[in-house]
Amino acid sequence: MHKKRGRYNINALILCGLVFFVIAATIFCMVANGREAAREEQRIAAEKKQEEEKLAAEEKAREEEEQAEKERMQSDSVQPGVPVGTTEADDNEKVVYLTFDDGPSKNTQKVLDILDEYNAKATFFITGQQPEYLSMIKTAYDAGHTIGLHSYIHDYEKVYASVDAYFEDLEKIGEIAKEQIGFVPCYIRFPGGASNTVSRKYTKGIMSKLTEMVQEKGYQYYDWNVSSGDGSKATKEEIIKQSETDEYNHIMILFHDAATKDTTVEALPEILKYYQDHGYEFRAIDRDSLIFHHQTNN
Ligand SMILES: [Zn+2]
Repeated sequence: MHKKRGRYNINALILCGLVFFVIAATIFCMVANGREAAREEQRIAAEKKQEEEKLAAEEKAREEEEQAEKERMQSDSVQPGVPVGTTEADDNEKVVYLTFDDGPSKNTQKVLDILDEYNAKATFFITGQQPEYLSMIKTAYDAGHTIGLHSYIHDYEKVYASVDAYFEDLEKIGEIAKEQIGFVPCYIRFPGGASNTVSRKYTKGIMSKLTEMVQEKGYQYYDWNVSSGDGSKATKEEIIKQSETDEYNHIMILFHDAATKDTTVEALPEILKYYQDHGYEFRAIDRDSLIFHHQTNN
């Protein structure tokens, strides 16, 4: 009798133990599952936050880029009454402004590729004579180079026939630029430079008038203090020799990227290397750049 009761007690104890174990295990599992779920929730939330932050950063970068692009356009566009450029050179700097006239042409892409290799920015004073290459204007602009106006027709007799004829031609090339890059640039280079004497043949005194008038209209004109000599027929070696100098800390070199100027393309890498080795920085013209003016001769 006694013994039987003892067995019941043991069985009851085992049963209780089992029940307790099952309950405890169930609770443990529930807690563990809960923790796991909470961790998963946290992980998802963190991921979501990270993704949102990434999107916000991308949006901000896009906005900043758009803003910088807008400011660049604003700064490079012609604004009547707003002066362009400086005559004060910073003596602590060594700067080369590479400038290319008479393009775009079949040689422009080659010039752009070479500039790219040297991480050099330049300025292109454009003409409208080769319509099939006009899209190069945007290509150059988008690569960080400056677009300036040279002449639509580039025929001295027509361009310098009168003050009105000059501005008609300038407006025409301005429109071409606007079609390509969305605005009319304020930087110009006179056909033959401000010092040309050829215009005397067509209109006496026109250059002294134009040099004043363009500035009143919000443009600035740029001549050069180093000529590569590629305006006339020149060999690669001649162009290199004429382009390389350490006479000045601030240099504006005249080149041409017209279709006939293959030797300019050939000479360019050596010239860029020369200036790089001599500690010069290549810069595209902007609103704050140093102005290079020639004395007018007509
Ligand atoms: Zn020219």
